[in-house]
Amino acid sequence: MTDGKSPAAETAEETGEVRDVIVIGSGPAGLTAAVYAARADLRPLVIAGEPSSTSDQPGGQLMLTTEVENFPGFPEGVMGPDLMKRMRAQAERFGATVLTARVSRVDLGSRPFAVWTDDPGDRRPTYRASSVIIATGARAVALGVPGEAEFTGHGVSTCATCDGFFFRDKPIAVVGGGDSALEEAIFLARFASSVVVIHRRQQLRASKILQERAFSHPKISFVLDTVVTEILGEKNVTGVRLADLATGEARELAVDGCFVAIGHAPNTELFRGQLEMDESGYIRTRTGTLTSVDGVFACGDVQDREYRQAITAAGSGCMAALDVDRYLASTGRG
Ligand code: NAP
Repeated sequence: MTDGKSPAAETAEETGEVRDVIVIGSGPAGLTAAVYAARADLRPLVIAGEPSSTSDQPGGQLMLTTEVENFPGFPEGVMGPDLMKRMRAQAERFGATVLTARVSRVDLGSRPFAVWTDDPGDRRPTYRASSVIIATGARAVALGVPGEAEFTGHGVSTCATCDGFFFRDKPIAVVGGGDSALEEAIFLARFASSVVVIHRRQQLRASKILQERAFSHPKISFVLDTVVTEILGEKNVTGVRLADLATGEARELAVDGCFVAIGHAPNTELFRGQLEMDESGYIRTRTGTLTSVDGVFACGDVQDREYRQAITAAGSGCMAALDVDRYLASTGRG
């Protein structure tokens, strides 16, 4: 069962069946939770989200990456989308139902919990479950400077692997000093004539191995202690306006593309007012994956601002499924 019309999903909707567990999200956290929940015979329904403009399947941030070199078990590396397809196939093999749909609303205040989806064609099926695993992940943060929104898709991007190809032999800027920024810069250097990394501090936050690769790359240079104050262009990006934070000096840098890689924000809007969150909107968890509502569990980047790796997300997905199993047993279900 791999799409919105899967018989199992239709049955849940039509009969008003109360499932043991609904998993919201289909990145490494959600799909690992689904593998474990399915193997515990909890027949999870995974509401996977919708495909993005750049991939034919939902599956979170790894659908937007190229090679993942640090996921254990893949000594030669694995492409992000391949890894997600494998996780999904593994979950389905054990009986998970994966529904390609976006959750539009949840009610975590009454039992059983209710989850609404937006289907194409204006249907709004409701799914009910005794427990919910939230694995909705995080998304790229925007700079919030003039020109950024206007030129998104016309030279401004947050996804090098999606858009890098359009910048063959052209100069590019990458904004940020973390792993994402350097990974994007190294990837973009395959196509671009030059890549300038613009970072607001002297020290990069990125791991040493990526710093070494970027520093030694002949096409990559760095502008430090500097912020982008505006993205310039007419129809497409022609440059960025910079401010040197040490001297206050402003200048323009001519580039055809500006890739923004300044971190991520959790996808938690759906749960506001229903679950405890920290000041940045990450879901607060305790003793593993428990949230402030009994029977609701959170795993992966939606509750983790610290580690944010595919492998840690997968690990916490496993924990969430084990926590659900224990919870259902304690309530006499499952
Ligand atoms: P991150 O580690 O939070 O880095 C964000 C960078 O953007 C920081 O350098 C930050 O500057 C800068 N920044 C934030 N807001 C800014 C603003 N408004 N203007 C200018 N600069 C701004 O985020 P990330 O690079 O996306 O990485 C997220 C997580 O994923 C990390 O744990 C990372 O290790 C992991 N990751 C791993 C890999 C890998 O292992 N291959 C690849 C990608 C991501 P400051 O340094 O001054 O705060």
